[in-house]
Parts: sequence; structure tokens; C-alpha cells
Amino acid sequence: MAKRIETKCVQSGYTPKNGEPRQIPIYQSTTYKYDTSEDMGKLFDLEAEGYFYTRLQNPTNDMVAAKICDLEGGSAAMLTSSGQAANFYAVFNIANCGDHVIASSSIYGGTFNLFSVTMKKMGIDFTFISPDCTREELDAAFKPNTKAVFGETIANPALTVLDIEMFAEAAHAHGVPLIVDNTFATPINCRPIEWGADIVTHSTTKYMDGHGATVGGCIVDSGNFDWTKYPEKFPGLCEPDDSYHGIIYTEKFGIGKAFITKATSQLMRDFGSIQSPQNAFLLNLGLESLHVRMPRHCENARKVAEFLNAHEKIAWVNYCGLPGDKYYERGQKYLPNGSCGVVSFAPKGGRKAAEEFMKNLKIAAIETHVADAHSCILHPANATHRQMNDEELLAAGVAPDLVRLSCGIENAEDLIEDIAQALEKL
Ligand code: PLP
Repeated sequence: MAKRIETKCVQSGYTPKNGEPRQIPIYQSTTYKYDTSEDMGKLFDLEAEGYFYTRLQNPTNDMVAAKICDLEGGSAAMLTSSGQAANFYAVFNIANCGDHVIASSSIYGGTFNLFSVTMKKMGIDFTFISPDCTREELDAAFKPNTKAVFGETIANPALTVLDIEMFAEAAHAHGVPLIVDNTFATPINCRPIEWGADIVTHSTTKYMDGHGATVGGCIVDSGNFDWTKYPEKFPGLCEPDDSYHGIIYTEKFGIGKAFITKATSQLMRDFGSIQSPQNAFLLNLGLESLHVRMPRHCENARKVAEFLNAHEKIAWVNYCGLPGDKYYERGQKYLPNGSCGVVSFAPKGGRKAAEEFMKNLKIAAIETHVADAHSCILHPANATHRQMNDEELLAAGVAPDLVRLSCGIENAEDLIEDIAQALEKL
């Protein structure tokens, strides 16, 4: 029976048999016991399925990954220790030293740093392109060594909305996959695979966990990108892996499982950015109510955005659910049921007013975090983007006076009253 998304949030990934625990068990074990060395050897050769060491895989994690896979409509998925690890693995699984990747310039600052500084040191070259580019501009960014295109459904903190369909069509026309970070939208509000994305990533630290309790990440493969059509571009998936006696991932595991199996058996083996099974358990609790929480986050954010938009002390508001917003039409296409709980705006008076306003709030707390049940607020120019001058901030799509308010699931009227009293004092 095909399940709807609300049922998947609660039930997917684990179906207990007669007499088994109702809630997913936490496999708090580093290792797994086998009767013979031969049994174990088969696992090390990827000849048999099973667990041998929690640095690579853990049954609790796999149940939760299977749930997220089902929510996104994918063919295989894995959990990672953080969203950073998810994006790093997703790209590094197919792009190596000497390769090139195109990324939207409007992405989370940590991802921008990962790509433009750390992965650059590894010899991977990135071209950053505006999410508002034309198809011609996007086509012009491809090089013979381009291996992937990357963007965020809703960018943190600029709140730009990616034209997923256009980015996917361009990527496919050039024989590479589109990777979409779907953290802010979550599969409740957008499923990028339905619009042509090939790989979906998440910082599960945000709405999926939903309570500010655990750092984590996830990668979902759609199973739609046929690596074998471009064997020269993706030798890691289409040619023998010497570290596993010459197996070929696409041959042995099929198009649907090759990408995740390779990322698990090579990148998890070598980098070990595994999510702890305790965290996976807590993440699963968060997922069980994701479909209930997201509409409330969106409703609160819409009401707050409307209030701010009409307030005389506010210079501007970004929220794609607001008619007249630059991304309203694109938001209606990709996020018709709501976008996320994050609103960005600027009180009149620049940086100083932004800082003063935040100090006066009583409900939303000043935090670097975003996207959980508690409302929180950040002035990126003074925190995450502190090292940049005003010119650099604008180039990164973060106005110096931008305030990022993440609306939690408290009462919307309380949030608005709090904002109103803080603005009053300016
Ligand atoms: N992707 C997006 C869109 C994010 O907002 C973040 C963190 O804020 C990350 C990735 C990185 O995730 P994590 O902090 O879980 O490593």
C-alpha cells in the first residue's frame, strides 16, 4: 500500500515483527559478532550484506536513513555525523583532484567555505553562479571536467529559492548530476527528486531533528542518474575499486545503490563521519513529528513576515511566501504548501539597529542555530560572517543589516508581540 508522507514520517524505515520493540532499537555497539572468519571476510569483500564496524554502518542509522530515503523518494540513503559531512561526501564521492563543480553562490556559509577553501585545497575547482542565472549563463559555466552541480532549495540565510528544474535540466544536458541541499524546505515542503535532482542532502541538525538536540546529516540518492552513460566522467563508480578486490559499484550494486554503497564503503571507511546511533534515535523521534511541525513553522513565519512587512521601522523583508517577494512565484511552484520558518529582514538604521533590536527580544534567543522548535535570531554580519566587510557580505548575498529570524513553533501572537516591543524601543 502506498503511504502518504505523514504516515511515512511515523512508520517508514522500521517495521517490528511479532514481539519486537515498537520504537527503533539503539544498536549501541561498535562491532558485530560472526561465527567464522569466512563470514566476516565476505563482508569485507562486499560479497555479503551486513554490519562489521560502526565506523561504516550501524543498524539504527540505517533504519533512520531508510525513513529519510522514503520521505525524499530515493533509492538509497546514509546518515552522516553532520550536514557538513553530508555535503562533503556527496560531492567528494564523484569529484576528485583536478575536477570542477558548479555551485549556487547563494548557499550556507559553512558549505561555501568547505567548497571554496577546503575542497579547493584538495584540488577541486568550484564556479559559483547566481541562483538567478539564465540557462545560457548556467550552460556557459560547464567545463569538460565538471562533475556535479550543487544548490540549496531555500538558501541559508539569503532565502533565495533554487530553480531546481532548470538546474537539473542543465546538469543532465552536460552529463552530470544535480545535488540539492534540502535542509530548509524538508521533504514535507519540497522533494527535489520530483523536480529532477539526483542527490539530496540534509543537515538533519535543523528541522528534521527539530529540537536543537543533535547534529547530523543525510545523503539520499534518487537512483535516477545513470553513471554508466558517462563512465569516463565517473570512473570511481564505473571502474574497478582496488580497495575491494576490483568490484565495480554500478555493476555489483546497480544504478540505485552504487552511489551510497561507494560513499559508505570508501568515504565512511576512510573518514568515519558516522552519526552516533543515539543521535540517530533522537533524529528519528524528530522525524515522527516533522509533518506536524513544518506547517506550524511556516504559519508562524508567514504571520511574522506579514507583520514585519507592514511595520514602519522595517527596511525590507525576505520571505518567499509573501506576495511581492522576489521569489514568490518560484516559491509557489516548488513550495506551494509553505517554505520554512526562517524570515530575513532589516530594521531601519543598519547594523546598529539590528543589534539593538535583537538585544530587546525576550522570546527569540540569539543563537548561531536555526530551524528548530525554539525561535532564535542571528545577525550574520556580526556572527557567522563576521570576518567579511560590507562589500564581501553583499557579494555573498548577505546584507550587512540582515537579521535572520527562525520562527519556532511557539504561539505566533506571542512572537509578534515580542518583536513589536523590541521594535518600539528602537
Ligand atoms: N546545509 C545547510 C543549508 C545548513 O543551513 C547547514 C548548517 O547550518 C549545513 C548544511 C551544515 O550542517 P551541520 O551544521 O549539521 O554540519
